[in-house]
Amino acid sequence: MAEEKKIPYKIYLTEDEMPRDWYNVRADMVKKPAPLLNPATHQPMTAEELAGVFCEELVQQELDNEHPLIPIPEEIRNFYKMYRPSPLVRAYCLEEKLQTPAKIYYKFEGNNTSGSHKLNSAIAQAYYAKKQGLKGVTTETGAGQWGTALSMACAYFGLDCKVYMVKVSYEQKPFRREVMRTYGASVTPSPSMTTEVGKKILAEHPGTTGSLGCAISEAVEDAVSHEGYRYVLGSVLNQVLLHQSIIGLETKIALDKYGIKPDMIIGCAGGGSNLGGLISPFMGEKLRGEADYDIVAVEPASCPSLTRGRYAYDFCDTGMVCPLAKMYTLGSGFIPSANHAGGLRYHGMSPVLSELYDQGLMRAISVEQTSVFEAATEFARCEGILPAPESSHAIRAAIDEAIRCKETGEEKTIVFGLTGTGYFDMVAYEKFNNGEMTDYIPTDADLQPGFDSLPKI
Ligand SMILES: *Cc1c(COP(=O)(O)O)cnc(C)c1O
Repeated sequence: MAEEKKIPYKIYLTEDEMPRDWYNVRADMVKKPAPLLNPATHQPMTAEELAGVFCEELVQQELDNEHPLIPIPEEIRNFYKMYRPSPLVRAYCLEEKLQTPAKIYYKFEGNNTSGSHKLNSAIAQAYYAKKQGLKGVTTETGAGQWGTALSMACAYFGLDCKVYMVKVSYEQKPFRREVMRTYGASVTPSPSMTTEVGKKILAEHPGTTGSLGCAISEAVEDAVSHEGYRYVLGSVLNQVLLHQSIIGLETKIALDKYGIKPDMIIGCAGGGSNLGGLISPFMGEKLRGEADYDIVAVEPASCPSLTRGRYAYDFCDTGMVCPLAKMYTLGSGFIPSANHAGGLRYHGMSPVLSELYDQGLMRAISVEQTSVFEAATEFARCEGILPAPESSHAIRAAIDEAIRCKETGEEKTIVFGLTGTGYFDMVAYEKFNNGEMTDYIPTDADLQPGFDSLPKI
């Protein structure tokens, strides 16, 4: 216990302690994630085929299942130094409030203007695009964090940045949109009339408020039809999880400094990038038989891809222009119910996490949004940080576990990822504060059309 006292509120690392390599968890997986397939031939995508959509070096990273360590280029490390290493915080105030014997830590990724962990991959993807001599990149954004992160990264390297923003967010989050424009990005509400796939979706579903899958299709079409442009994606892909491994590596270094071994590691899961990044070094130890951890993905009950989805090849986008990925999915046509407030609305899940989950190396739970906002509010009032709704899914799970520990007397060490801040989510917080937020859990019948739309492979 005496040793306990020495653990500071925030464990900071020095710049020098910041990792010099990303960690590629695929290298330690005996059964690798399934390859991306060409949607026309159903054969594994080759590097040449992928190079039409993604930057060359990112294609190498996407396909690399062998090398455990990938050096972080100095230019990217220098950018990281502007906001990293990020603190690992001991949630003393939350522990006190919950009167729990559990020890709670969170890795805080919201200390940058984009407000989330997404900058970790945005800067890497912008760097490789610049290095390849490209003019610019296109992308989609849902809640807006990825678009903001990418516009910051593109401004830094002098790249053009075109963002297709899910229409409902474009309208609900005008300030996010303006932050992106301030960093020099052009922002188009999706679906739009500027692409063929956008026109088609609008003709079939007039009045649709859009989805991530649809915005992805538009961004891909824009990239492949303009010379010198490539598409970049903020989650799901292997390369993105690789870049996000910086979160887990720093967490591990900070914990090791104080000899702390976590029992449970929790992260929210949308496309799986923050969770994949946070858990990667710990999962590596687990895969190599060196240690064991209880690893938990937390997803919204309204978009339950891991807990209720199928493990199957599916389209990554609504327009079916992207490669097919084998993942836990609700079907590419799935759109969460209209009352769904936060992010984490993607129909699928990272193939790496899907495979680890399928092998029983991690588990998943789902939580309802009103309980998520209750947890967010409780956390904000004692820890001070206003959490993003997405991050608050992990808070919910951590609080629930800490309450269980109180009942059982277990002194468990819980680590969770606090992926970002919620300043741009005030419409959702307003709904919650007014008591107008509702929950909707899709019925099996609601999910069936999505499963029926899965490609037969
Ligand atoms: C994008 C985002 C997420 C979810 O995306 P993942 O790829 O699953 O990590 C979670 N939290 C915040 C703050 C985000 O911006």
